[in-house]
Amino acid sequence: MRKNIVAGNWKMNKTLCEGKSFIEELKSTLSGKQLRCEVIIGAPFIHLASIAELATDSPIGIAAENCADKAEGAYTGEVSAAMVASTGASYVILGHSERRAYYGETDQILTEKVKLALANGLTPIFCIGEVKEEREAGKHFEVVEQQIAQALFSLSAEDFGKIVLAYEPVWAIGTGLTATSDQAQEIHAHIRSFIANKYGAQIAEDCTILYGGSCNAGNAQELFSRPDVDGGLIGGASLSVEKFLPIIEAF
Ligand code: PEP
Repeated sequence: MRKNIVAGNWKMNKTLCEGKSFIEELKSTLSGKQLRCEVIIGAPFIHLASIAELATDSPIGIAAENCADKAEGAYTGEVSAAMVASTGASYVILGHSERRAYYGETDQILTEKVKLALANGLTPIFCIGEVKEEREAGKHFEVVEQQIAQALFSLSAEDFGKIVLAYEPVWAIGTGLTATSDQAQEIHAHIRSFIANKYGAQIAEDCTILYGGSCNAGNAQELFSRPDVDGGLIGGASLSVEKFLPIIEAF
């Protein structure tokens, strides 16, 4: 079944102490509320074990923001999918445009990460999206098709069915420019039909596709009202409970 999800991505923000305070505040704010979406917080590796423990018995799921493309061994500074899973996190954000642009993550590397995440019981939140020049040249459909096909189409239908996608136009991330709900709906529907062509209508219908890119309290409701927009991946507005809560409540 397709799920609605609002997922935060803290990126490289918050000390451990600040991260723990946020989770305590969000947990108490959500307590007793009837939620119409799953709530996930993506946090730096070193926060995961502590915040996952704090989030126990709450509706908050925890995500890593990355994992290694190797299972284990002599890879100084890397964190494996098994290590992420051992913290109590259930999700991992993979293929974020910042990782693709600044850390050279290729489709091939991302395939390895996705497979390791799935093998360790983590749900990948897999990010795709075009840069401004590609949108202006009308190439955005082609770009997301290639990102999906090259990184994910070697997966079995069963494994593909476990993935959450996040369409994040790079020109909208952290810029204050948001895709219109028409633009989001158009490309989300396109992504869904592209998946249907490969894996069939049911897997496509069940695939959760989030929108990310300057999503906030002012535009979330409009975006989430569209039939193929199943929630959001939220950067800046996930850094305070005050800004994040109205997005959760937009469903
Ligand atoms: C993101 O980094 O995934 C993101 C969507 O950031 P922002 O909401 O700040 O644009």
